[in-house]
Amino acid sequence: MARRTKIYEGKAKILYEGPEPGTIVQYFKDDATAFNAEKKDVIDGKGVLNNRLSEFFMTGLNNIGVPTHFLRRLNMREQLCRSCEIIPLEVIVRNYAAGSLSKRLGIKEGTPLPRPIVEYCYKDDKLGDPLVSEEHIAAFGWASQQDMDDIVSLALRVNDFMSGVMMAVGIRLVDFKIEIGRVYEGDFQRLVVADEISPDSCRLWDLKTGQKLDKDVFRRDLGSLTDAYAEVARRLGIIPEGNNGTGPVAVN
Ligand code: UDP
Repeated sequence: MARRTKIYEGKAKILYEGPEPGTIVQYFKDDATAFNAEKKDVIDGKGVLNNRLSEFFMTGLNNIGVPTHFLRRLNMREQLCRSCEIIPLEVIVRNYAAGSLSKRLGIKEGTPLPRPIVEYCYKDDKLGDPLVSEEHIAAFGWASQQDMDDIVSLALRVNDFMSGVMMAVGIRLVDFKIEIGRVYEGDFQRLVVADEISPDSCRLWDLKTGQKLDKDVFRRDLGSLTDAYAEVARRLGIIPEGNNGTGPVAVN
């Protein structure tokens, strides 16, 4: 097989050129990082689970008319996506206080917010992805006013979809991060949900017990990360009961 061209290697994924123009292949690694990569580990099977979970969420979004870059899963660790130009923002939606919001504003973790709050961070690892306002985004030309309207609308639709899907399996969607890409179609550009949606980029708490089923398990040393992600995948029916979802039989 011809050696593929690597486009980019990030903390949790590698992007390769896709088989046709306008496509890319996303490869999910087992690497876990937190606190701007100050904490690092390799967690066996994490990439396989995130590939499946992201496929599940992105397919659901595509099916309800929320455009995403996802085309199809190729194998255990790879998915085919439309190539897009990533807007350099992390778009965060919060339903309950947690993490950096709790720290910044002194609000106890788990406090319900009066309405979903959308925040933006400028994607720059060297700067530690600082929080920015719409003023910064407009002034520095990262996105236009029209883009921002579309981004908020996409983010809130993703929030409604994800909250509903998770609630149905007894999980609270506390907050999450998405990235948005521009896809060019002739002279037009369209915004799509890009990157991944997985427990790496969401906070997911068991509705009854409050148990964390997301990357905070790694950030805060709360146990096995793959057990937590496999629990989410099992509840969603992505992997069968009694299976940790990281083997070849479970995912093909
Ligand atoms: N998040 C992410 N990548 C980042 C920063 C945050 O996926 O680089 C997610 C994080 O998992 C959580 C939400 O965005 O679901 C809000 O994160 P927060 O701002 O509270 O940051 P943290 O506490 O993770 O530093």
